[in-house]
Amino acid sequence: MNLAFINPGYKKYGNYNRDVMGGFGAVSTKGDIKIPPLGLLYGASIALEKGFECKFIDAEAEKLENNEIYPKIKDCNAAFINLGAASLSSDIKLINQLIGNGLEVYTTGPSARFYKRFLIKEASGVNVLNGELEFILPFILDYYKTNLEKNKIPSLTYLDKESGETIETDNSKSFVEDLESLPFPARQLLKKNLYRGFYPHERPLATAQTSRGCPFNCVYCPYPISQGRRWRSISHKRMLEEAKILKEEFGYRYILYRDALFTNNKERTIDFCEGIIESNLDLKWRCETAFSKVDTETLSFMAKAGCSGINFGLESADPNQMKQYAMKTGGLDRVFKITKTCKELGIEVLFFIILGLPGETLKTIKKTQETIVKLNPDHLIVSSATPYPGTKIFELMKSQKEIAMDDLKSINSFDTHYLPEGLSKEELKREIFNTYKKLYFQPKRFFKELLVHPSWFVGNCSQAVYNYVKLRKKN
Ligand code: SF4
Repeated sequence: MNLAFINPGYKKYGNYNRDVMGGFGAVSTKGDIKIPPLGLLYGASIALEKGFECKFIDAEAEKLENNEIYPKIKDCNAAFINLGAASLSSDIKLINQLIGNGLEVYTTGPSARFYKRFLIKEASGVNVLNGELEFILPFILDYYKTNLEKNKIPSLTYLDKESGETIETDNSKSFVEDLESLPFPARQLLKKNLYRGFYPHERPLATAQTSRGCPFNCVYCPYPISQGRRWRSISHKRMLEEAKILKEEFGYRYILYRDALFTNNKERTIDFCEGIIESNLDLKWRCETAFSKVDTETLSFMAKAGCSGINFGLESADPNQMKQYAMKTGGLDRVFKITKTCKELGIEVLFFIILGLPGETLKTIKKTQETIVKLNPDHLIVSSATPYPGTKIFELMKSQKEIAMDDLKSINSFDTHYLPEGLSKEELKREIFNTYKKLYFQPKRFFKELLVHPSWFVGNCSQAVYNYVKLRKKN
């Protein structure tokens, strides 16, 4: 029995990473970060362990058209497709092509769960996974290997061919609770040179995930929705084992940790760092966490263990907006202190900013922009408030207007869906552009970027200007 694990391509924007935004995916500029779909690689690893033959296709990274996929997996009996929110229409075309060619198709990722009724309608015969692939897959493998009845596979929605009814199986459980029980992702199936980090030097880049879930439950965040609020993790020993494999067996030199809250457990973080330092692993890595979840001691260990960058969600730097949406930071004083400490230790700081959350005005945006210039982060990613399904902001938007399927299909953290009172779409897009401009186009900063990251900077600037001009025309 042969299985295919497919990350479909998506042509509409320069770059599409389905693994980010809790698995809903986000678009970005052409030369920006490109990461492999880790969930599919975990799935392939589980299937390989059980003796199945597996093929892995990252059509997004390889720039393959939908019709170039089937010839590569002709000998497969079933395919697992990583669904994106923005790419839904294009993904459905691929699903129908594969079903038409006789494959049994399963869709994975949080978008599959939220759009299941639409999927069942538009792709007759599709099987929709309503939880994590790694949790449901072992049951699907038993269905093929030991004839487990299909309706005993948990968290699955499908159309029963005989009765014509839509079956929803028991979905009381849908997440992997014990992450330590998972094998390492099947990275041997990847073409590793297709991927890159935030900067060109972050290569060859591996991604890894050592914890899932986030207890903060921020109103706009898809992570607690797709991974749950209970933070669970692998041990520092397992983390070290994986880091060693990545360096020594695969030859990676840079790891991007994909946890939503990497440093949630201080002791685990420090133990992991000590392990890296003691084993002299010459590795650089980047992670994501909250300002309130690091302190000087932890950061010192992280810097010594090769941590070269941390991504922090700042979201807003206006005091009132922060009280509502950025309590996880621990307040602006802490943001300044941690940013300064990171810089002193040689750790690059990346801020995620969201403009257009409820209560946002041109005044609060100006405050955020001024504070960002003072904080002077190494990198900035600014997006508009995006109503990812299941989040509180999604519910808010739903209460204000009917959400059409077309709205959902363009959820990508780039297009504007939610507008706070008094702000126009045009103003919001202009201020997103201005936020970048105010930081990067200060004369000193501009020349530093040209000197330190020339290709990255020129590429991103031209793409940002192009996008801005395009949007102005569209609006
Ligand atoms: S702390 Fe970060 S990952 Fe957690 S809910 Fe808030 S934005 Fe999401």
